[in-house]
Amino acid sequence: MKLHRPTMLARLREPEQWDVCIIGGGATGLGIALEAAASGLRTALIEGRDFASGTSSRSTKLVHGGVRYLEQGKMSLVSEALKERDRMMANAAGHIDDYGFIIPVKRRWAQFYYGMGLRLYDLLAGSHRWGRTEWISRKEVTRRLPHLAEAGFIGAWRYRDGRFNDAELALGLARTAVQQGATLVNHCRAEAFAKKNGRITGVQAQDTLTGEAFTLSAKVVINACGPYSDALCRLDDPAHESQLRPSQGIHLVFDADILKGGDALLIPKTDDGRVLFAVPWLGKVLVGTTDTPVDHLDPEPKALEEEIAFVLDHANRFLGLQLRREDIRSVFAGLRPLIQGRRDNTAKLSRSHEVDASASGLVNVRGGKWTTYRKMAEDTVGFLRKHCGLEFNPADTTNLALKMGDTSPRGMHPADTKELATAVQKAVEEEMCITIEDFLARRYRTLFLDAKAAQQAAPDVAQLLADFQGKDDQWKAAAVESFTELANHYLPNHTH
Ligand SMILES: Cc1cc2nc3c(=O)[nH]c(=O)nc-3n(C[C@H](O)[C@H](O)[C@H](O)COP(=O)(O)OP(=O)(O)OC[C@H]3O[C@@H](n4cnc5c(N)ncnc54)[C@H](O)[C@@H]3O)c2cc1C
Repeated sequence: MKLHRPTMLARLREPEQWDVCIIGGGATGLGIALEAAASGLRTALIEGRDFASGTSSRSTKLVHGGVRYLEQGKMSLVSEALKERDRMMANAAGHIDDYGFIIPVKRRWAQFYYGMGLRLYDLLAGSHRWGRTEWISRKEVTRRLPHLAEAGFIGAWRYRDGRFNDAELALGLARTAVQQGATLVNHCRAEAFAKKNGRITGVQAQDTLTGEAFTLSAKVVINACGPYSDALCRLDDPAHESQLRPSQGIHLVFDADILKGGDALLIPKTDDGRVLFAVPWLGKVLVGTTDTPVDHLDPEPKALEEEIAFVLDHANRFLGLQLRREDIRSVFAGLRPLIQGRRDNTAKLSRSHEVDASASGLVNVRGGKWTTYRKMAEDTVGFLRKHCGLEFNPADTTNLALKMGDTSPRGMHPADTKELATAVQKAVEEEMCITIEDFLARRYRTLFLDAKAAQQAAPDVAQLLADFQGKDDQWKAAAVESFTELANHYLPNHTH
């Protein structure tokens, strides 16, 4: 299944009426596109930048129920997410790792307390597809993570959760949605709504690559803009009051040797009461995250100086290392689309989702997390049938296998010139890759793994993109300049 942008764009511009037009191509929008197309609805999706370029490529890479929500008593939230974890494991077989997470314990009461929680987690998970929680002795912890034991740990719990490549899964969702008949176009923004008698009848869109504007006519328009959904609501109703309280989370990326032993680490309580993860991922280790309320929504969120200091300090304290800023290979930030609640503590806001419609008929999907994308899609498509006058038989996607494409892990871009050329060509012709960022941030994950290496690769990638897309030298120079500027924000010395 090939994702070919010119073909998709031509289909999008045919003057037919869509049953649904989805705005936003992250986990939420792509999941809905798949669910709607599988249910026989004529489905279009437009994404203003690239698929998963928002929060959906900036996660901690966990497919999880959320161990820490158990402490908050949110059993149904955890139980629902664990069911979805199972489904993702089966439907994206080979692309979700059953991974070990170690929680070091210093006191007997903590051993008991976390042990109870993790046993409950296993119980809620039900199925035996995943490994069970086990206690690891001090000796074994010393062997796996020598520095931890020195800091007085009596042992550790080791539980199982999923680990994945978020941008890769998003592309898998896109492929499967297209296979089911959906039309998806990236680099195409919703600028305004078309209305008749106060009801939304379509979307005024702009192809951001050519500047061309056109109108899509649709029976229902869905707002799947994640943290940016309030901004889209304001295009519909300028008086719209914010429903989200976005919060920023950052990750620092280090070389793999900071965490030996092959497991991930969970630090159950940081200074601000959050959990902190260190997760081996595509040959590096991600450490994060933070929870910083934000008022201004930058499409390219930037790590704050104090967030970097916080994560670095905790990584050093718990890993027993002396990591310095120079050791950071990349810093990336994402915005959580949290549903509004108590304004003072975003760590306590709900991760569950909700669906509603505005007076003019705009359907809004808010909240959720990557792991529950399918459930969010199912609920949204259910909402269309109940409240939006669309008649169709909803598909059952619980066992629908995703078209994941390539099985090789897409971490760093290929270093070999020939392999790089083949990879860029495939990305352009089959994965709607347009820019250097599309290639080095999401078709491969170089920007997230090593920002300097990404900057160094940019001229070669630009040349190949120009060759395969028929672009001139001016395009190439501008592309390299804008990518270099972007990648500067993934380097720790360019913080805000
Ligand atoms: C730091 C962090 C760590 C996380 N870790 C995990 C984790 O480990 N596991 C997990 O399950 N969940 C995790 N989450 C949550 C999860 O990543 C998000 O809930 C999910 O990715 C949100 O997807 P989305 O599609 O709603 O939003 P997004 O991915 O942000 O997608 C919204 C899209 O809308 C587009 N858009 C906006 N305006 C327009 C417009 N006018 N026209 C067209 N397109 C537009 C944007 O470009 C964007 O691509 C994490 C979140 C954060 C911030």
